[in-house]
Amino acid sequence: MSPFLSDLLLISLALTCCVLADLPDGPSDSMDERFDNLHWLDLNGGLNNLSYQAYTVAQWAFGTVPQACFDMAGDRQCDPHELEVFDVNYSDAKYTKVICRCTDSPMQIWDIADDIGRVPVKARQWINYVGSFNAPDCSAYSGANHITILGNCAERASVTIHEVAHSLDGWAVYKGNGAQYSATREWKRTVGKDTCVPDNYAKSRWSESWAQVAVLAAYHFNVGSIWDLDGGVECMRGQMEKVIQQLEGVLTFREADRCDRHWPEDPTVCMGDRAISEGLCEGLEVITTVERYPALDPEVQRGIEEDENSRMRHAEEESGLVVARKFKA
Ligand SMILES: [Zn+2]
Repeated sequence: MSPFLSDLLLISLALTCCVLADLPDGPSDSMDERFDNLHWLDLNGGLNNLSYQAYTVAQWAFGTVPQACFDMAGDRQCDPHELEVFDVNYSDAKYTKVICRCTDSPMQIWDIADDIGRVPVKARQWINYVGSFNAPDCSAYSGANHITILGNCAERASVTIHEVAHSLDGWAVYKGNGAQYSATREWKRTVGKDTCVPDNYAKSRWSESWAQVAVLAAYHFNVGSIWDLDGGVECMRGQMEKVIQQLEGVLTFREADRCDRHWPEDPTVCMGDRAISEGLCEGLEVITTVERYPALDPEVQRGIEEDENSRMRHAEEESGLVVARKFKA
């Protein structure tokens, strides 16, 4: 073998080695896990007890749906003809929140609207469409500021807040252009200086570690001091202090708060052949002036897409839709 070829072989072996050995991009597995999970924050007067904002609901006529709902239904094997779409108007927001559910979802519209209404408006205003679909257990994921809820997540405020936090990470606390704060060196260093993370899931990705700390921060702002918890959270003080400072004005419920921004509406699309055959899609008004998200650096964009895929995979595992895959370093 020529020296040149053997060099090439070595280089390609080296590359293979490093791709295979790549670890998930998140906190070190050797860090302590402060809690088993964060569901307990919901219970015993916890996050589930937050009062939800009053709202009214108006259901769309059969035939058309927002593009985002149509796409979510496609991801979840729900026939778009089976989608129910609701305009939900919360009393603290002048813009409509659209929530869609597949008819076989275990959550009724008021279950979903209650949970979303428990999120303070300054945080709620950063999420866009919400979809609810059938699954054996509760789980959820977010992508492009849309939240997909799987199974029955009624009374699981921590799950909703976690998903909303992914939008806050990209839009409300850092550059405001979709780039995630959780991907910064500052956050990684902050976590690295502590000795624990909230729970095992916080280790799966940097964005999940930030979102789990955000759930603890929501408890701190609206239920009781996080520092007074049994056993304390001293081992993650740096993370808590940072996220509390970032989210105080966003995730704290204040009676007088009102929304001050919203996402542009998706185009309205036809449910499909049955709706067309019933003449429900003729003259369909299609919104064409949809504001696109600003283009991001390709590396940043790749990180966000990896995050979104990871969330969907994890949610599917948690909700019992697919068998969990064991990660091997
Ligand atoms: Zn997440």
